[in-house]
This record gives sequence, C-alpha cells and structure tokens, in this order.
Amino acid sequence: MTESVAPSRLGTQPVGEVREVAEGVYQLKVPVPIPLVFVSAYLVEGSDGWTLIDTGFDYPEGREVWETGARAAGCDLHRDVSRIVVTHFHPDHLGAAHWLQELCGAPVYMLESEIENSREIWDDANPTSFIGHLGDNGMDRALAERAAAKMRAGLTLPEKMVPLRAGEEMPLGTGKVRVVRAPGHADHQIMLHDEERKILFAADHVLLGITPNIGRWPESKPNPLARYMESIWSIRNLPADLVLPGHGPIFHDLRGRVDELLRHHEERLELMWREIEGTPKTPLEVSRKVFRYGLSLYERCFALTETLAHLEHLVLEGRAERMEGGISSFRAV
Ligand SMILES: [Zn+2]
Repeated sequence: MTESVAPSRLGTQPVGEVREVAEGVYQLKVPVPIPLVFVSAYLVEGSDGWTLIDTGFDYPEGREVWETGARAAGCDLHRDVSRIVVTHFHPDHLGAAHWLQELCGAPVYMLESEIENSREIWDDANPTSFIGHLGDNGMDRALAERAAAKMRAGLTLPEKMVPLRAGEEMPLGTGKVRVVRAPGHADHQIMLHDEERKILFAADHVLLGITPNIGRWPESKPNPLARYMESIWSIRNLPADLVLPGHGPIFHDLRGRVDELLRHHEERLELMWREIEGTPKTPLEVSRKVFRYGLSLYERCFALTETLAHLEHLVLEGRAERMEGGISSFRAV
C-alpha cells in the first residue's frame, strides 16, 4: 500500500524518551519486548493531577522508562497521578497498570465491558482455547503451544478498576474528553477525543506506518473486520487535527489515514480472494502467501488471525465459503 499521509514533526524523540506534543500533553515512548519496538503512553497534566494513558508491558526496561520519563515531564509518579486510563486489554497497554497503580495509588479506568473481558482473559489465563484456535486454522500444534506460552503468559490486573461508558465525558488536562468506542483491533477498545482542542488519543485504532492488527482471535466476536471498517468510517470526519496513536508516528490527517486504511483492507481482501480461487486453502496457507517470509512467531500469529478475519469477511460478503470439517479452509465463490 502506498502511504501519502505524512508523519508529524512532533514526537520524534527516541524510544525511552518523553516530549511535550501539545500543551500539557507528553508522549512517552515505552519500549516493548516485541517487534513493535515501543508503545506510546501519554501523560496529561491537569489542575486536579496527572492522567496517564496506557502503560506498556510490565518488565524492567518499561518500569525504568516510566520512572525517568515521568520525572522529565515533571510528574512525580508517587504523588501527582490522579487517574490511569487503559485503552484495551492487550499486555502492551494494560501490562504495567498493576505496577503503576501500586506506585501512584490512582484508579485504573477502562471501558466497563473491557474490565470484564480482561478478567476473563487474564485472571484465569487458559492457553487451551488459544492453542486450539491457532491449530484449527492450520498452525502446527507445537508452534501454537509456544505462541500461547508467550502471548497468554498471564498478567496481574490492577486492583482498583473504574468502569467507563462509551459516549461519556471525563476531565482530562484543563478540559475534557469523550470516550469513543473503537472496535476491530480489540472488541472493547476506546479512544479519547478532545473536541475543543481537536486532539484524538487514538489507541491502536488508527496508526501510521503500520496498519492495526485486525484479527480473529479466540476471544474476538465474529467479523472484527466488518466492525473495524464501519468504525473507522464513522470517525472519518471527527474534528481532530492531532492524532496521538498507541504505536508509530503521530500524525495530523485523520481522514486521509482512514481512507488509506480502508483501501488497504479492500486490497487485502482482493489478494486473499485470489489466493482461494479454485482450490480451498487454510488461513495459515493464505497468510504465508500474503505476508512476507521471516516473521517471528509473534508476527506469524498476528498474520494468521489477520488472514482469518479477512477470509471470514469474504464469507460475510458472499465472496467465499468455509469448507466443512477438519482444519478450517476457505474457497472463493
Ligand atoms: Zn493492541
């Protein structure tokens, strides 16, 4: 896909460092031990204390960057934080929330249904359905077990979680933001929109440089791609000229990026449809054709679930059928 939306000149600091990207809004690039390199957390200074948005994985390098980054922004993690907002349950966003809460004493705000979902996934992390899901779609069992051990290793949830509702307003900085539902990458993901300042904290819903993983994971509701495309279409005209994403560069042109992402998925659908023309293929086989070689195990899981989401979307559109029995496979119709 050719991208023409330009990255911002804001937030170009190296991983591990913090920069002010709007008045009172600081971006902290927290390193992550996965190919994504970093997750962007945001620290927002307000009259009633600081708000932290997303937390990174809980591991020593991440903790160290939080300590030094917050200090550089002028935020004392032990005294100044009044709330922590987590956009979705993935470990690179929610992982360090427990540790940060112990440090700051602040409550962790998440979408009501995401609190429930996180408890289901992380409280009794059970790799069986994860392994079964990858296996059903063509992955070798030993590999699926290794992937589950990495990706569902467990995570300690923060003790005090406060539910948010979609559409509600909450104070942030010197103003307020609205909680916007952003399904697709994760069913219960949220973004925060400051309409007055035209700032969108976009989580992993609209990214630049990479496309958000829209995958069919064992926990996802059916047809994540349909919900994703509908959702980004609905926010296309949101008043926002500063998009602060969870990964990759900051950018300004929300509408332009939404159009690119919609085009990207249409192209992917077309490519995959051609792969299953004539002979049925498993999602794994299709993912090997569509994604580049040499992926890490982590990335192979993302490629597989992403492929499955597209194949299911083709079924939904009446352009493919799922074959009966055994490992799942799809054929174009
Ligand atoms: Zn995510």
